Amino acid sequence: MSAAPVQRPASGARGSLAGDVLETLQGVLGSPEAFVPLHEPRFAGNEWEYVKECIDTGWVSSAGKYVDRFEQMLAEVTGARRAVAVVNGTAALHVALRLVGVERGDEVLIPALTFVATANAVAYCGATPHFADSEEATLGMDPDALEDYLAGIAEVRDGACVNRQTGRVIRAAVPMHTFGHPVRLGPLAEVCERYGIALVEDAAESLGSMYRGVHTGRIGRVGTLSFNGNKTITTGGGGALITDDEALADLAKHLTTTAKQPHRWAYHHDHVGYNYRLPNINAALGCAQVEQLDGFLASKRELASRYSEAFAGVKDVQFVEEPPESTSNYWLGALLLARGREDERDAVLAATNDAGIMTRPVWSLMSSLPMYAGSPSMDLSVARGIVRRLINIPSSAFLVSDHA
Ligand SMILES: *Cc1c(COP(=O)(O)O)cnc(C)c1O
Repeated sequence: MSAAPVQRPASGARGSLAGDVLETLQGVLGSPEAFVPLHEPRFAGNEWEYVKECIDTGWVSSAGKYVDRFEQMLAEVTGARRAVAVVNGTAALHVALRLVGVERGDEVLIPALTFVATANAVAYCGATPHFADSEEATLGMDPDALEDYLAGIAEVRDGACVNRQTGRVIRAAVPMHTFGHPVRLGPLAEVCERYGIALVEDAAESLGSMYRGVHTGRIGRVGTLSFNGNKTITTGGGGALITDDEALADLAKHLTTTAKQPHRWAYHHDHVGYNYRLPNINAALGCAQVEQLDGFLASKRELASRYSEAFAGVKDVQFVEEPPESTSNYWLGALLLARGREDERDAVLAATNDAGIMTRPVWSLMSSLPMYAGSPSMDLSVARGIVRRLINIPSSAFLVSDHA
């Protein structure tokens, strides 16, 4: 990190919501001299050794031992029978949707409040995203609201869920575990089961997060992970599919490696496959990162508990806690301003960023993006309220021990 000059807050800000939030963040982070980013990677293990070995041996690309090892390690830490490593989390989502049968002309239920990759993966299949509302306790898809909504617009015909308003099949639902906080997967899985909708979990943000003792991504038929530079662990860029279905995992491996039939020399491909394979050199980084996962998770949980304690005393601001029946990885810490204080969000963002502590609002709702503005949607009141009131705060592993 380069040490950017840091402005001290104007003392007049004290007592305002912006001043209170800034002071509380400084209390936890210790008025750091250098700019504090939202989420930084940390390479304190065997990264250099493993990556160097790839370079020294020439095994940097599409073959090598680290891809297999990384997949085994991911299966172990998530408890999934199989993991298939791919180039990024978006590619993992794309393939996951193909695996559960999403076709051109289908609809796929996704939260309106998500990163754009969830919606884009649906579009890559020629399908249409269909937006669902969030609940405040998890920030993610609300199973009760979804159930009421489907009762009004959908019916099951020949085992498939048909949207009576559009005539299209709702093939899959992709809940996303926002900032690592698991959605209520039990009730969601029940609704999907009843309507014949395939459940795919976008677990890009929730490596290490559990719902009722089961790792996120494992309740759905397929789950997807991301190892982008800002995620809990990183491979530079990378992602994975996890599933307990061996046949589905084999198909995922085949489709993501150009669908080439194994042969000593012949090039025969039996599907329109994808070149989504994770390079060995990225997998090497991944192996070193997984080795440190427990430490990352413990450190992020400690930071979350300090934030929680510090913000408990601040009026009209709430630190978002892990939902009931869940263990969150606390990937990205979030504050929710009280209803009625929405107008002060931008002042909070300005005061904190001016003082060298990075904060950020959440994504725009997918339904407000030009390419998805015409997509079907349920009422999105809760998600809309969250967008106006949410602020992400610095959450890197070892942030407290490094700066305090
Ligand atoms: C990070 C992320 C992804 C995948 O991102 P990649 O950068 O393609 O690895 C997908 N969905 C969500 C919600 C994410 O946060």
